[in-house]
Amino acid sequence: KDNLLEVKDLRVSFQTYAGEVQAVRGVSFSLKKGEVLAIVGESGCGKSVTAQTLMRLIPTPPSYIKSGSIMFDGKVDITKLSNRQMEKIRGSEMGMIFQDPMTSLNPTMKIGDQITEGLIKHEGLSKSAARERAIEILKLVGINSPEGRIHQYPHELSGGMRQRVMIAIALACSPKLLIADEPTTALDVTIQAQIIDLMKKISVETDSSIILITHDLGVVADMAGRVVVMYAGKIIEQGTVDEIFYEPQHPYTWGLLRSVPRLDTNTNEELVPIPGTPPDLFAPPKGCAFAARCPYAMNHCLEEDPAHSVLSETHSAACWLLHPDAPKVERPVGVGG
Ligand code: SF4
Ligand code: MG
Repeated sequence: KDNLLEVKDLRVSFQTYAGEVQAVRGVSFSLKKGEVLAIVGESGCGKSVTAQTLMRLIPTPPSYIKSGSIMFDGKVDITKLSNRQMEKIRGSEMGMIFQDPMTSLNPTMKIGDQITEGLIKHEGLSKSAARERAIEILKLVGINSPEGRIHQYPHELSGGMRQRVMIAIALACSPKLLIADEPTTALDVTIQAQIIDLMKKISVETDSSIILITHDLGVVADMAGRVVVMYAGKIIEQGTVDEIFYEPQHPYTWGLLRSVPRLDTNTNEELVPIPGTPPDLFAPPKGCAFAARCPYAMNHCLEEDPAHSVLSETHSAACWLLHPDAPKVERPVGVGG
């Protein structure tokens, strides 16, 4: 299948009083049409900034795209569009689902109007056609008797219901790309599972591509086809879900797999937090950014940042342990297959 997105060497920084924070430091990946790609990593790793940059939702200033390109649908470089052109694409070809519906829904506007707004503005639908479409989409996201719901305000709905409405708004214009940033974090477990099922259904039925930003590896296993692991503003490993879960190669991925609870497995493996904290992105280290926390760090790791080793057509990881001359290291118990 064709690529919907091709991100090449993307760098995003924030200007602060104290200096430049390098939030995203040379990220490259692609996304195929209809694919669900998860971006995982600890908070502050650059996953949200990356996702927001794809939609040009980062505030500029203080943040800015330093370099790189984001080809969308083989046609346009997102980094080069004017705000006006971008607004058009965002409304019609991209949709975003946030963690907290209450902060992204308009509390003073009926939910029906929030869904039809974009349809009228970007798709040129008449009011009544937009209303019909809104009702259709609310049905698609599993909201019963939508004819009555469209007259309600966000505060009249439950948390799970609000999340469905936000998904409906994101879907209204049949976007090619949906970005979901921690879409289920604020919800209880049962509702989480329903929202995940809903998003899976949507990706199949609408053939839209989804980028899923999450720290929940259970959600990843359940929804995504491919996974990108980020650390300190860089991709340190990427692969198919099976490659990342069963054949992980990077010590940080090992740590992540051992430290995060998973809803999809019933193993009694003890959770082991990764000791230490990520490096300061005011002054990123010269060598491997994970070295200060890595139990396998070698002298060379402090000197030079490892390049990605290609492990399969879909799998790569950036770690000196993958160098042919490196000592052989066993994966920790409980990680991988
Ligand atoms: Fe650890 Fe070195 Fe690999 Fe970095 S490059 S993850 S420090 S072994
Ligand atoms: Mg985030």
